[in-house]
Amino acid sequence: MKTNRLLRQITGSPIHSIADQVRLLQSRGVPVVALQTGDPDFATPEPIIRSAHQAMLDGLTHYADSRGLPGLRAAISAKLAGFNGLNYDPISEVLVTCSGSHACLCALHAVCDPGDEVLIPDPCWPVYENILKINGCCPVYVPGKPENGFFPTIEDFEKSITEKTAAILINTPNNPTGMIASQEYLQAVVDFACRHDLYILSDEVYESIIFSGLRHISLASLPGAWERTFVMNSFSKTYAMTGWRIGYLAGPTELIQEAHKVCQTGLTNIAPFIQVAAQTALTDLEVPGYVDRMIAAYDRRRKLAMDILNSQSDPIIQAADPQGAFYLFLDLSRLGQTTDILAARLLEEEQVAVIPGGAFGPYSKNYIRITIAAADAEIETGLTRLVRWATRQMETIPAS
Ligand code: PLP
Repeated sequence: MKTNRLLRQITGSPIHSIADQVRLLQSRGVPVVALQTGDPDFATPEPIIRSAHQAMLDGLTHYADSRGLPGLRAAISAKLAGFNGLNYDPISEVLVTCSGSHACLCALHAVCDPGDEVLIPDPCWPVYENILKINGCCPVYVPGKPENGFFPTIEDFEKSITEKTAAILINTPNNPTGMIASQEYLQAVVDFACRHDLYILSDEVYESIIFSGLRHISLASLPGAWERTFVMNSFSKTYAMTGWRIGYLAGPTELIQEAHKVCQTGLTNIAPFIQVAAQTALTDLEVPGYVDRMIAAYDRRRKLAMDILNSQSDPIIQAADPQGAFYLFLDLSRLGQTTDILAARLLEEEQVAVIPGGAFGPYSKNYIRITIAAADAEIETGLTRLVRWATRQMETIPAS
């Protein structure tokens, strides 16, 4: 049977397929320690839930403005000004989308033609690749080294430029590494994009989850960036709203206008009661307290995880202390096998679910990602089992 040629080129998201496998095992009673998915284990803050409920009772259950409710767009514009130092007109420069994933798709499909190349740092969130491929575009992975916080150097980006390069993607704080790009680095990326006339997609979904007193810099606030940048964000991570499916894009009118066409096609609009809830997330005075408590918990779990990893007498698993987001990216290269094999064995033998690094790019196959958006006990059990298991694996490797 003939199916879409572009779709045939992509495989499903590896993260979602591992998560589905974990759900299936759990439904059969297997006690899996689930460290695979970046989904906060906290409930969505109550004021947000209450406002969605009230909005439904108030009749906001019909079609709505396809760019997003004016009140929500105004709240997003105010948040971008206050938190990110960015000025966007709520009427023409903000678009509400059905998640951060969808915001990415709307932005990239708005500016890229089939055949265009897009530079993506490796490691990176896997969904970018498929978003590009279903539009006939080509992801070009550019490796980032651990000593540079896993962000590729500008020289490496330069080497990957061709006449087909249309855009560059930057995600900070980063999934899967937890690293934060410095202002100097982001400015160098902007200068590079200006030299080659590239669009920039700035994925800032982890902007609030930052440890150690570091600061998030919004790339579009840097000189030269605004007119070529889509700022992309989501309510999923900051507000523990992964199931609500709501995010947004901000950018110059001409870009948002095109992204709006993609958003509207097939979707019409985002459920209005969910938009009201998102507006509450941005404006209710109680919500920041909930967010602060979640970030404090991620920070505590980060320390817990790092203590366990640092206690290895022989550091078989190498770990960089994350600066933000809620992941640890662990180097298992000493075990001498790619981590798709190791991760499958870890699930089978120790019931610990992790994501193999190959999901985050072809250069990351020696790593695994674990999330710290799981309960402390899960993190402690999962990492203790991982360290013990890795130690046993090492004993089976002949000394060279
Ligand atoms: N960007 C990054 C880097 C992510 O890690 C995720 C989700 O894991 C998203 C975007 C999309 O989030 P959502 O689609 O839940 O809004």
